[in-house]
Amino acid sequence: MTLHVHPDIQSLSPYVPGKPIDELQRELRLARVIKLASNENPLGPSPKAVAALGDGHDSLHRYPDGGGHRLRQAIADRWKVTSDQVILGNGSDEILGLLARAFLAPGEEAVMADHTFVIYKMEVTAAHGRPVVVPLVNWTHDLEAMAQAVSPRTRLLFVCNPNNPTGTMVNADAVNRLMDTVPQDVIVVFDEAYFEYVRDPKFPDSIAYVKEGRNAIVLRTFSKIYGLAGLRIGYGITTPEINNILNRVRPPFNANSLAQRAAVAALGDDEHVAQSRAVNAAGMEQVAQGLKDLGFAPIASEANFLYFDVKRDGRKVFESLLREGIIVRHIEGTMLRVTIGQPEENAAFLQALRNVLTS
Ligand SMILES: *Cc1c(COP(=O)(O)O)cnc(C)c1O
Repeated sequence: MTLHVHPDIQSLSPYVPGKPIDELQRELRLARVIKLASNENPLGPSPKAVAALGDGHDSLHRYPDGGGHRLRQAIADRWKVTSDQVILGNGSDEILGLLARAFLAPGEEAVMADHTFVIYKMEVTAAHGRPVVVPLVNWTHDLEAMAQAVSPRTRLLFVCNPNNPTGTMVNADAVNRLMDTVPQDVIVVFDEAYFEYVRDPKFPDSIAYVKEGRNAIVLRTFSKIYGLAGLRIGYGITTPEINNILNRVRPPFNANSLAQRAAVAALGDDEHVAQSRAVNAAGMEQVAQGLKDLGFAPIASEANFLYFDVKRDGRKVFESLLREGIIVRHIEGTMLRVTIGQPEENAAFLQALRNVLTS
């Protein structure tokens, strides 16, 4: 049967998610599987968020609040912006799609790093825009080169900070220089999915640019430190003008009712965030040291994962680790990404890697 497909869509390949635990368990009949592939919080969500879900059962036959009022207000209060500066998404992934759809005409450009979150290229291409890809320097966004890559056709510029999959960050000075050089009409997208894990005090205050009225949007998510990846809820903080445009392409009930409830509760549980940060910081030490002991040089990370060159076929190591019941992420070539887990999970990963290397 003839199928008419736009060449831009034909050029895409489906996103390959981290392998689900039960699938691997079934396939390999493993008793224990540890997933360190999708940068999820190993502690799970805040108990307060779980409790809030219970209150939502009674109204599952109702559509969610399409305006997301309570959650948007809670986010606005937290970041000292107005609620018309907050947009909710079915994960912050969805907001990336809304940005591409709303602001790119066919052939218009979006500047991004060449080794970053794969969704940018996918959404830009799906919207018939043109990704303009700028190499990293030392595994880090080269913001100067990215500013130079801006043309009169550029509409969006993505800064993934900290960057997935490398874990590196760009600091406040570098972002300041970027904002001084980028034309004011270009929308700078700060994707800060790992913001709550960052420890470096030089991390930029990107919301300040939004408050100054610059064309910028800061994306955050409840999928990572808040441990609510399964509920699909993320948000953007931007100018009322950009938000107004995004709302024209936003599906009306994109943030579901349980997600909205859980997110309000999660946002109020600073203790759970602090504990998650602490577990991550300790686990980061443990895994980084373990990898160094095995002769690897993991890239210093501000997020909840480590990226390293395993110095042999990464796909083979990934597959051997699967047989040991450990799911990591093979990114490309010899590079693997491993999410920081709980201490026992980290130890099991390091032991499995040792087994794989010596077998
Ligand atoms: C995980 C992640 C997201 C967001 O994921 P959602 O679950 O859609 O909120 C966004 N950007 C980066 C870089 C990520 O790693």
